[in-house]
Amino acid sequence: MIFYGTKGSHLKSERVSGVNCRHCEQQTSYTVSIFGRYAYLYWIPVFPLAKKGVAECDHCKITLKPKEMDEQLRMKYDNVNRNVKTPISYWIGSLILIAIIAFGIYAVNQHEKDVVEYIKAPQTGDVIEYKPNDFYSTLKITRVENDSVYFAQNKYEIERQSKLYKIDKTSNYTEEVYGISLTEYQTRFETKQFLDVDR
Ligand SMILES: [Zn+2]
Repeated sequence: MIFYGTKGSHLKSERVSGVNCRHCEQQTSYTVSIFGRYAYLYWIPVFPLAKKGVAECDHCKITLKPKEMDEQLRMKYDNVNRNVKTPISYWIGSLILIAIIAFGIYAVNQHEKDVVEYIKAPQTGDVIEYKPNDFYSTLKITRVENDSVYFAQNKYEIERQSKLYKIDKTSNYTEEVYGISLTEYQTRFETKQFLDVDR
C-alpha cells in the first residue's frame, strides 16, 4: 500500500495595519497568515504545492480569502505572501531520490573505471563473471605468477548476471585450477568471453 497525499503547515503570520475593514467598517489591522502545502509519499514531503493564505480582521474577526479581499487589503496580503519562502524541507523526498540516483550513477562509473585496472593487473581473489552457455557463472583467481593467471571454476550457474553474488561462495569453487596467460586473460574481456570483475 502506498501512502500519499497533501499536507499543509503554517509558515508565517504578520499583522498589517491601516486597513479599512468593509465588514465592521473600522480603520483597523488585519492578521495575514500564510500556509504552505506539500505532497508527501510515505510521510516524506516530496514537492511543494501553491501556498495558501487568509487575512483576519483584528477587530471583527472576519476571515477573508485572497479573492474576497478588496484591492487595498490584497496588496498588503500579497506583500506578506511574496516574502514567505517555500521551505526547502518540502523537497526533501525528491532530494533524497536524486541523491540515491546520483550515487548509483557514480558507483557504476567508478566500477567501470576500476575494472579497467583489474583487467590490467589481476589479483588473487578477483572474481570474473562470464557466460559459458545460456547461464552465468564465475571464476575465481587463485594465483597470478609469471604472466599466468590461475582460476578455480564455480560449479554453479545462475540465470541472471545480477544474481551471481548468490553463487559466489568459497565452497562452490572447484579444487582443481587451470591457468592461462595474462595476454589471453585480457583478450577474453575484449572478446566478451569474460564480462566483469569484482574485487
Ligand atoms: Zn472587521
